[in-house]
Amino acid sequence: MKKIDLHIHTTFSDGTLSPEEVVRLAKEKGLSAVSITDHDEIGGIELAEKVGKEYGIEVIPGVELSAKREDKSIHILGYFIDLHNQKLIDFLRYMQGARLKRARKIILKLNEHNIDIEMKDVLKYSGHTGIGRPHIAEVLIEKGVVNNFQEAFYKYLGDGKSCYVSKADISTKSVIELIKNASGIAVLAHPSSGGVNKFIPELVSEGIEGIETWYPSHSENDIKKYLNLVDKYNLVPTGGSDCHGDRGRHPKIGEFWVEYEVLEKLKIKSQKLRR
Ligand code: AMP
Ligand code: ZN
Ligand code: FE
Ligand code: FE
Repeated sequence: MKKIDLHIHTTFSDGTLSPEEVVRLAKEKGLSAVSITDHDEIGGIELAEKVGKEYGIEVIPGVELSAKREDKSIHILGYFIDLHNQKLIDFLRYMQGARLKRARKIILKLNEHNIDIEMKDVLKYSGHTGIGRPHIAEVLIEKGVVNNFQEAFYKYLGDGKSCYVSKADISTKSVIELIKNASGIAVLAHPSSGGVNKFIPELVSEGIEGIETWYPSHSENDIKKYLNLVDKYNLVPTGGSDCHGDRGRHPKIGEFWVEYEVLEKLKIKSQKLRR
């Protein structure tokens, strides 16, 4: 049976593995295909594709965009996106700038809590693209402010916590349109996190075409529930590890996978949409 993983982060956002390392590990662990889905960033995909050709690993171009609906943060995955789509490129550039500004605001809030942290500490972990809360969490651990990643989010960085700053307010509708405009398939990521289930019917009418059904934290019941919804709304079920390398509690490459058949269904959907 061929195994795949459709949700992986690299050093282009908040993962610790480079795109090349992701592909090399995928080969080592026996995966046939991977999708690189960095937060608001597509810079790692071509590198992964290049190594993928050498190793015989299929690389699906992907991205994970953050949207806001009411007070909830919703992540939408885009698969088979056209990497040269100008609207998408412009949007991602804007989001990278917004992430940097937001990181500055978070740092100021932490300073107000008498935590000594500067932008250069964070850039040491993030490089210059894809800066996110996990990079700030690393600094808090390094400085002994918290003992671990979970504590950093629980005490300071998590949604609604004392040093939380929300990202640019982009609606789910615009994010979905952006993905479709770039010939991609929009898929609701990790639907079980943070009370977003109630939005599924509205997201369907806005154009999502899939639900991330197989996800590390999903129970058998969750999977059944999402398979039913997928059936009801004629969507595709997808799945992936949300691997961030060594960062956070996500599975490592090869520890969580779905069957290749999932990708075949996604491809059929993608071909139908483009016709
Ligand atoms: P950002 O894109 O800066 O909002 O950061 C989002 C990332 O932070 C997610 O992809 C997760 O990797 C991580 N994250 C968010 N919330 C938590 C949490 N409560 N505990 C641990 N990690 C989290
Ligand atoms: Zn992440
Ligand atoms: Fe996510
Ligand atoms: Fe993710």
